[in-house]
Amino acid sequence: MSSETLQTFLQTNLQDLKEHGLYNEIDPLESANGQMITINGKTLVNLSSNNYLGLATDERLKQVAKEAIEHYGVGAGAVRTINGTLDIHLKLEQTIAKFKGTEAAISYQSGFNCNMAAISAVMDKNDAILSDELNHASIIDGCRLSRATVIRFNHSDMEDLRAKAKAAKESGKYNKLMVITDGVFSMDGDIAKLPEIIEIAEEFDLMVYVDDAHGSGVLGKGAGTVKHFGLQDKVDFQIGTLSKAIGVVGGYVAGRRDLIDWLKVRSRPFLFSTAVTPADAVAATKAIELLMESTELNDRLWENGDYLKKGLKSLGFNIGDSETPITPCIVGDEKLTQTFSKRLFEEGVYAKSIVFPTVPKGTGRVRNMPTAAHTKEMLDQALTVYEKIGKELGII
Ligand code: PMP
Repeated sequence: MSSETLQTFLQTNLQDLKEHGLYNEIDPLESANGQMITINGKTLVNLSSNNYLGLATDERLKQVAKEAIEHYGVGAGAVRTINGTLDIHLKLEQTIAKFKGTEAAISYQSGFNCNMAAISAVMDKNDAILSDELNHASIIDGCRLSRATVIRFNHSDMEDLRAKAKAAKESGKYNKLMVITDGVFSMDGDIAKLPEIIEIAEEFDLMVYVDDAHGSGVLGKGAGTVKHFGLQDKVDFQIGTLSKAIGVVGGYVAGRRDLIDWLKVRSRPFLFSTAVTPADAVAATKAIELLMESTELNDRLWENGDYLKKGLKSLGFNIGDSETPITPCIVGDEKLTQTFSKRLFEEGVYAKSIVFPTVPKGTGRVRNMPTAAHTKEMLDQALTVYEKIGKELGII
């Protein structure tokens, strides 16, 4: 018999979310998360994955993963600092450092873990973090865990950042100061104003931390947002995930060697949680090698992104101000957003609704993530459905 307090808490809150259209149903996939997916026996054009380059199902990655399973088995067997560091984890980290143009890199089990790990290993209660208000949840949690003072600045508002950085510096209250931003903001597809952020950081002696989960594999011909701006020498922490464009799972910090040495002895998910599996490590390494060898997949991603954006815009949808292939269709009302997504599903398009708390209230949207693996026919099929349902619901 569970506690009555728990039961009341859960039932009241779940009911409340459902009534306000804020309860997200989860649809399990019966296929790989590729450009076409199967849910409940239905085949759909998939516009919801972060598999930007189609690498999650790439034959070359699958092959090395199979070989790694044969050689190393399916698990790393222990945390990294006991004896769970396999040579392929080190190879992955060396490859990431090369990819990012840094002295060294450290890998984690996920991008989420990486932010929890890295922020709290460097910042403490005597420090302050200037954090963009739209930064990812894992950054918010990493900041909380560090116990540093968090000073939120308005989204990509450089005047606000400058004023707050100046005040923090001049207060003399903090030992260390850091500015943290996403490289690409995943709900709107806009890019951080890194050159200005770095100028402010230099003026007020801030460490610079960029989480490029949605920029790696996408911007800078694949190398990421920092490379896109040519600022590799100015960013102290380059964070990334291996789960989106790279197509596998895991996260990393790339930076100076002594930073990586510090994280290896002080970041708790590295010390106390087992690393990614052998198959993950080699598949991610292979993906990064492919990205460094050729821009073919990256070129195709942008081509498809531009095609979908133009199509949706000419139909009359509000696609916001995305600067990347991420293409939101902003609807506003949460319930209408969910109905829109449901009707798209019924007509063969999987584009997930994203509502509060992932985005601010009243800015519900259906977010489209075109990938390098989509064909023009698939995108045209999606656009035809968008037109039909958009008109049906009075959105266009
Ligand atoms: N940071 C950002 C900016 C992200 O968008 C995400 C993924 N939602 C993460 C971190 C977490 O990455 P992962 O899925 O690898 O945990």
